[in-house]
Amino acid sequence: MTASTDKPDSPSPKTLFQKIIDRELPGSFVYEDEQCVVIKDINPGAPLHLLVIPRKPIPRLSDATPEDQALLGHLLLVASQVAREAGCGEAFRVAINNGAGAGQSVFHLHLHVLAGRPLKWPPG
Ligand code: 5GP
Repeated sequence: MTASTDKPDSPSPKTLFQKIIDRELPGSFVYEDEQCVVIKDINPGAPLHLLVIPRKPIPRLSDATPEDQALLGHLLLVASQVAREAGCGEAFRVAINNGAGAGQSVFHLHLHVLAGRPLKWPPG
C-alpha cells in the first residue's frame, strides 16, 4: 500500500484504489459498471469481504456533496447486489470508515461488505 497517495491532501493525482481501478495495480474484481467497481479486500475480515469503490475519487464520505447523492445510493444498491450474488443476501454488513480516527486507511471512499460469519455489534 502506498500511504503517500492516500491522504486527502496528497499531491498525487491517484489513490491506491484509483490505481487498481485503472489496472495499474492488481485487484480481484467481482463487479464493475460505469460508476463503481467491486473488488475483494486483500486482507479479509470475514469469509466475504468486498470493497465497493466509486470511480470518482471522493476521499471520505464526509467529502461527498449533494451532487453525489445518486452515486451514494448506487453504491448501496451495488453492495446489496454483490452480497446477494455471493449467497449472503440475508445477513451482511455494509460499513464505511470515515477518517483515520474511525479506521480509514485508504482515502478513496469505499464501502466494506462483510458476511459469512456472525457479525457482532457494535464493532470495535
Ligand atoms: P479502510 O481501512 O480505509 O476502511 O479500508 C481499506 C481496506 O482496503 C482495508 O480493509 C484493506 O485491507 C484494503 N486494502 C488495502 N490495500 C489493498 C490493496 O492493495 N488491494 C485490496 N484489494 N485491498 C486493499
